[in-house]
Amino acid sequence: MDLTVLVDNNCKIEYNLLAEPALSFLLENEYHKVLFDCGYSDVFIKNAYKLGLDLSDVTDIVLSHGHNDHTGGLLRLEALYRKMMKAGISLNLKTIFCTPNAFDIKLDTNDRNIGFPGKVEELCDIFEVDFTDSCTWLSPKLLFLGQIPKTYDTDYKYDDDTALVFKSENGLVIISGCCHIGIKNLIEYAQKVTGEKRIDTFIGGIHLVDKSEYRIRELGIYLRNLNINNFYPCHCCDLNAKIILSEYIKVKEVYSGLFLSFN
Ligand SMILES: [Zn+2]
Ligand SMILES: [Zn+2]
Repeated sequence: MDLTVLVDNNCKIEYNLLAEPALSFLLENEYHKVLFDCGYSDVFIKNAYKLGLDLSDVTDIVLSHGHNDHTGGLLRLEALYRKMMKAGISLNLKTIFCTPNAFDIKLDTNDRNIGFPGKVEELCDIFEVDFTDSCTWLSPKLLFLGQIPKTYDTDYKYDDDTALVFKSENGLVIISGCCHIGIKNLIEYAQKVTGEKRIDTFIGGIHLVDKSEYRIRELGIYLRNLNINNFYPCHCCDLNAKIILSEYIKVKEVYSGLFLSFN
């Protein structure tokens, strides 16, 4: 499976791509072309175009959760697809996989809605929306986790946070959005439902912004014991957290345009 970072908060000087405080990955294998989150705006579409990646034949869209930095771009994708259809281009039906509460209103600390900025009913004539809280195999090795149980405490008050897992030859590849559910809840659930303990790669947000040093070090010890081969924290992981975590585990850089391949 190939993974291309279409959008991250970070971009690289050699690449003529855009960044925004959001996340979007494109996953491709012989079965599917899966868009994992859509970023905040149309930046993921512009970056895909610059990278020569075609989004017209995307088969599935997976939403990690409802926040607008992961779902806002869905409206731009919808507009693009409508334009293509109007121009006579026929498109395959695209399924959106998300948890049942993904499109609910999500309030920030100032009571502003930072959930999906559109109306889910209006998506339904162009996308099929599959609300599911259970694990679903999207292809023989790619698993949508559905609603992840809150075994350990988390400060996230909603229930919509999920992730994808690819079962590679070298262990699990765990792909997260913001990981509001908490990295321990995500990793242990992924291991449990796949029956695979080894973790080859972790890529995605880990929701470590302005967190206490104690909490970051505690997570560092936990991650060191997992022996993850490739650790790519991005999006909602700040520099301070990366610096401290790098004492425990090698932290790899993520940027718009990063390309990874897994067997
Ligand atoms: Zn979020
Ligand atoms: Zn986010």
